[in-house]
Amino acid sequence: MNNSWMANGKCRQFPATTFFPSDGVGVEVARRICANCESKEPCLEYALANHIDHGVWGGTSERERRRINRRRRLELIESVNN
Ligand code: SF4
Repeated sequence: MNNSWMANGKCRQFPATTFFPSDGVGVEVARRICANCESKEPCLEYALANHIDHGVWGGTSERERRRINRRRRLELIESVNN
């Protein structure tokens, strides 16, 4: 996987701890930064592909990434069954 997107992440302008929040307010702060990041899509795919459990990546929380992974698995099963 090409990781050149990392060099353009807006998170490089903030302390790393911003993206590993301990509460919902912190998650929202990180998500707002990610919202305007040009690396958002590859960042999210990187986190999904590497099963990264902690932190905000591509504007998503851990919980949201679990949901995305679950939905994709179900879609894959449905496509195999159809
Ligand atoms: S989407 Fe968020 S975590 Fe990912 S590179 Fe951009 S600012 Fe960093």
